[in-house]
Amino acid sequence: MKEPRGVLCIPPTKMKYKNNKQENYKNILCPICKSDSIKKDGKRKTQNRGLIQRYKCKKCNHRFIIDDGFYRMRNNPQKITCALDLFYNGVSTRKVQQHFKAFLPHNSSNVSIYNWVVKYSKMISKFTDKLKINSGTEVQVDEMEYKTRGKKSWFIDSIDTETRFMVASEFTKTREKKEIQEVLVKVKYKTEGYVTTITTDGYRAYDNLVSKTFGWSNKKQRYNVIHNKVTQLKGEGFNIFIERLHNSIRERTKIFRGFHGSIESANSIMKGYEIFYNFIRKHQAINKCPYELATDLKLNSENKWLELIRLSTF
Ligand SMILES: [Zn+2]
Repeated sequence: MKEPRGVLCIPPTKMKYKNNKQENYKNILCPICKSDSIKKDGKRKTQNRGLIQRYKCKKCNHRFIIDDGFYRMRNNPQKITCALDLFYNGVSTRKVQQHFKAFLPHNSSNVSIYNWVVKYSKMISKFTDKLKINSGTEVQVDEMEYKTRGKKSWFIDSIDTETRFMVASEFTKTREKKEIQEVLVKVKYKTEGYVTTITTDGYRAYDNLVSKTFGWSNKKQRYNVIHNKVTQLKGEGFNIFIERLHNSIRERTKIFRGFHGSIESANSIMKGYEIFYNFIRKHQAINKCPYELATDLKLNSENKWLELIRLSTF
């Protein structure tokens, strides 16, 4: 039987996020002298986000507020996370902008909305990339081709066949050994001790790379994982889980119409999709979000985007 594995990156006390930040202000450190001797020091009025608690360090007298992920943003967290949710549910940034213009104060351009998607996807993925997962024994890895203004790019992704958790992904210009290894290294980190089989298609870049990345076990006198190469030529069929994942991704990314920004922002947008796939949307086959099966993380609020942003700012 598998032992449940803890989320390694966050101390248990910080796991349960409280909406009221002041309840755990005793854990706050002064950003200047790192002292934990902190007191509340009135509130600062902000234009669009209401009153924000201000703190003062008793040692060095430095006054500060806590960056809850929305520091210096001109729009409130509800509006921003609403934009993220609409975007990953398939609404274009232009349509989100039109919707907001009709119903909310302060017009935001579609470029702002695009920038929020990039910024917060990147922010949350710094947190979610560190989560160890209780995976099954098989992870499937594959790549999808994208075209931006006639130029090819690739989305390299991987899925745990048991929990349907998208384990790791990268949006890259090429799909050489270097790029694929980046994804494999993340898969190894997140699933270590659980995964025993890596399934790929017959693409040559995987040759030797899988065994090399996961390494040799002296104790067992064999490689840590079996590289299961499935080629359609041999009539062995498709890697069904990753194929289905690709269908979902294609469906959602139709609206992206080629990533107009840099490869980095395209990568961030796809990170956001990974977050949406693992944490936000319910997976039909398991009737849960994959994270509920794959991690020990508990998200308690309705607005999971906001909760993930808060978690990633601790
Ligand atoms: Zn201080």
